[in-house]
Amino acid sequence: MSGAEEIVTLTASQMAEAMKKGDLSSRQIVEAELETAKAVDPKTQSYLATCFNSAFMVADAVDEARALGQQLPDLAGVPIAIKDMIVTKGVETTAASKILKGWVPPYDATAVGKVKENGMPILAKTNLDEFAQGSSTENSAFHPTFNPWDLERVPGGSGGGSAAAVSSFESPLALGTDTGGSIRQPASFTGSVGMKPTYGRVSRFGAISMASSLDQIGPCARTVEDAAMLFDAIAGYDPKDSTSIPGCEPAALKAALEGKRGDLSGIRVGVISEASGEGFSKDVMDGFLRGANLLSSMGAKVEEKSFPNFLHGIQIYYILMPAEVSSNMSRYDGMRYGLRVMPPDATASSMMAATREEGFGPEVKRRIMLGTYVLSSGQYEKMYVAAQKVRTVLIEDFKKAFQSFDVLICPTSPTTAFKAGEVEDPVTMYKNDIATIPANLAGLPAISLPVGLDDLGLPIGFQIMADRKKDELAFKVASALEEAVSRENDGPIWNKVPRLWKSGE
Ligand code: GLN
Repeated sequence: MSGAEEIVTLTASQMAEAMKKGDLSSRQIVEAELETAKAVDPKTQSYLATCFNSAFMVADAVDEARALGQQLPDLAGVPIAIKDMIVTKGVETTAASKILKGWVPPYDATAVGKVKENGMPILAKTNLDEFAQGSSTENSAFHPTFNPWDLERVPGGSGGGSAAAVSSFESPLALGTDTGGSIRQPASFTGSVGMKPTYGRVSRFGAISMASSLDQIGPCARTVEDAAMLFDAIAGYDPKDSTSIPGCEPAALKAALEGKRGDLSGIRVGVISEASGEGFSKDVMDGFLRGANLLSSMGAKVEEKSFPNFLHGIQIYYILMPAEVSSNMSRYDGMRYGLRVMPPDATASSMMAATREEGFGPEVKRRIMLGTYVLSSGQYEKMYVAAQKVRTVLIEDFKKAFQSFDVLICPTSPTTAFKAGEVEDPVTMYKNDIATIPANLAGLPAISLPVGLDDLGLPIGFQIMADRKKDELAFKVASALEEAVSRENDGPIWNKVPRLWKSGE
């Protein structure tokens, strides 16, 4: 598949360039991605459903418009995959749950609408942990996804499908959702780039709700520049989302291109001291510190920043998140959409109970129970209200930190990708997100990019957090670091992934 190989290993921006020049058509790209998916997806299992027929229709329309000399958006003709937590009109959307099996949404999420306005062919819906609850994509009700760097390992979660699709060249771009790290931790495990925008910069309309005060849609890509282009395409005010931020025009591509020049003088970088030590592997810390040194070699002022409450984020999250989950999951009642299980002599409540018993997997049930508990009278003040107060403290801590620093950095995840089946107890699984959760609690933008490989040849993720609405700054710093890492490693990390279409890999 040499022709296809050449095409699918292009970045999104190179694809866009090649189409502009007339060297490549969108149809050729979608064909190459189809060929790749046929060879690779049986191994990674990134996709839950594909929609290549409609992708070809979009590709042809874009090619035709280009042939007529029409002015097209930058990403026109560049394909994308969509996490199955985001609704797509006319394409089955399940959130990887049996309870939504067969549900075909009658509308598009705002972000999906924007993808379509940009002329991007949608290739597939990607796998995830059921209702985005998990860190390994082993909790999907349908099948697990595997990590292209080592097929015995997990791609992270919950957005393991989007991350694996992008890193295995099944798609140049994907959308994800991030409630506690589900874009960034899978990016870290798969050597790709994942970005969680400021809460409110990308509309949540049509993102299936997990924990609404934390959820955010964001871009998954192989390069920072590609992630920036996708961010610019999907961000912006949306009256359909009451938490959407007005008047904040996205300019991430410009920032990423600026960053590529490698000048970070004047940028104050805080290294979160607490995100190290117990649980953080030596390889991850070594890779992270190499990245921090690269930032200072480009002129940034890098200093340690003690942030005592940073690691408490996870405790707050596991009270507030299940509370919101328990409320959001209550809409799956067998009445309105999705699965309905009718026991003999069904009443409304026995039907609901039987539907939920069959429709929800164990992790979702665990979180509904946890959430119902922390919201119950007696626990509400002690747990839920207390956690909200500590959340406010954490937000204030970030505000203070951003008076002295422009960005804060730490490893994205304490370890590199672990083996499928290796992490059995839920609490160990939850700890994967210890460094990603604080950005969700404070609504901050944060990006993960690969900074090197560990002893086993697995990618290490580096996280950059910025103040609210400073998404562009996170892109700029990430882009500078990506260039420096690429120079140190004889080329980009993403390009070192095994080519899974070759037999034996
Ligand atoms: N892994 C985290 C969890 O299980 C985050 C999930 C997410 O961001 N959707 O809750």
